[in-house]
Amino acid sequence: MDSPSSANRQRRNGCRIVLFPLPFQGHINPMIQLAKILHSRGFSISIFHTRYNFPDPSNYPHFTFHLLSDGLSELEASTLDTLRLVKLLIANCVEPFEQCLAQILSPDDLICRVVCVVSDAMWYFTQAAADKFKIPRIVLRTSSVCSFLAFCALPLLRERYLSYMDSKMEAAVLELPPIKVKDIPRLETHDGEDMYRAIENMVRETKKASGLVFNTFQELEEPELAKLQEQFLMPTFTIGPFHKRFSAASTSLFTQDRSSISWLDAQAPGSVLYVSFGSIAAMDQQKMNEMAWGLADSMQPFLWVVRPGLVRDSEWLAMLPDEFLEATHDRGYIVKWAPQQEVLSHPAVGGFWTHSGWNSTLESICEGVPMICSPFFGDQMVNSRYVNDIWRIGIRLEKGLERGEIRDAVRRLMVERDGEEMRQRVMCLKEKAGFCLNSGGSSYEALDALVDFISSFTF
Ligand code: UDP
Repeated sequence: MDSPSSANRQRRNGCRIVLFPLPFQGHINPMIQLAKILHSRGFSISIFHTRYNFPDPSNYPHFTFHLLSDGLSELEASTLDTLRLVKLLIANCVEPFEQCLAQILSPDDLICRVVCVVSDAMWYFTQAAADKFKIPRIVLRTSSVCSFLAFCALPLLRERYLSYMDSKMEAAVLELPPIKVKDIPRLETHDGEDMYRAIENMVRETKKASGLVFNTFQELEEPELAKLQEQFLMPTFTIGPFHKRFSAASTSLFTQDRSSISWLDAQAPGSVLYVSFGSIAAMDQQKMNEMAWGLADSMQPFLWVVRPGLVRDSEWLAMLPDEFLEATHDRGYIVKWAPQQEVLSHPAVGGFWTHSGWNSTLESICEGVPMICSPFFGDQMVNSRYVNDIWRIGIRLEKGLERGEIRDAVRRLMVERDGEEMRQRVMCLKEKAGFCLNSGGSSYEALDALVDFISSFTF
């Protein structure tokens, strides 16, 4: 699919791009996928990474890896409070990033001729370092355009709606239809306002970047892209879905349990609900019980990723009621981590109950699998609103995790006509996602434009 001419390849020979992912699964996956895409177009690749959660370099023999000292203590690195971790990482990585960049740009560095830095949007401090060394910075925003617009409007939305955030949760946010007050990203930590300031910095520094890349495709978010381009004047490239440009990913931080595929092989086509809340979401025991009994009461087969840590301070499987395990042993299968892209493309899978992380949402769309959405925080609220209200390819659980609503939603999605209509709509989007990567498609052209854009930095 991505086959550059040998002339182009020669022209780019020796041009190196530095990529710096935020060290969480949902950010590492798209950044490494982007690195692979750019490598396939002839660029050399250097990955800057923290000690915390780094990808296995042996999976990428063609890339060079540079470790930044993230300064996290063992205790800090083991926290389940992701927002606090992000805040600490941002504070600790400013200097190491600058040092590492200085080193790779030094005349003694033989692997040099760095043409630009591609940074996760949350590493907003990389703009100042790039400016200092007069090197262009391209931002990769790993989530949807629709949720990015909500983050951009966050100061305004908080000012207008904060006073009644708890009393009128169902009210519409007039500035950003279709989102409701309850979908406004909430980022409170025990440190109060810090994360909101980080988001403001992220938006401000993104505006200074030379270019902006999204893992989405034009046909999915056309009106949102038009709105984005009113605020962000630099070239914007929507070249997704990244993961469909390559066969199965090797960016997983956890061991994927392949027995889930053999279990699926024995199930009827379209019968299984796949359940996974990604790499970060966590809940309390009472919510876990509601989830379990909602699934049991639905009477549908399910493959459930129960990640260690999904319920805080609870041992794996001790978090599930014994009666639930007995009641569902002949139609449920539970793993710690699954090869998700492969699971979603398996013919036995007919629905995906997700936390609406952007990678999961896009992966589901690309396989034509309709969703049930249980967003936890951040962009997930907006992604799930779009799944439910705009694309109409899934059901958002509006009451949180409540067994009756879960049971009804599972049955609606898996066996009722309503679910079938959602399946047809998501199949149309799957087709569009496929077309956009083919010659002449929107993401195909956007990638050519991105490659030309980066190449122009070298002259
Ligand atoms: N994933 C996986 N196996 C699992 C659960 C998730 O490989 O059992 C992958 C999934 O395919 C996706 C990523 O982990 O690429 C999760 O990213 P997402 O943005 O959906 O959520 P996050 O983990 O950032 O909350």
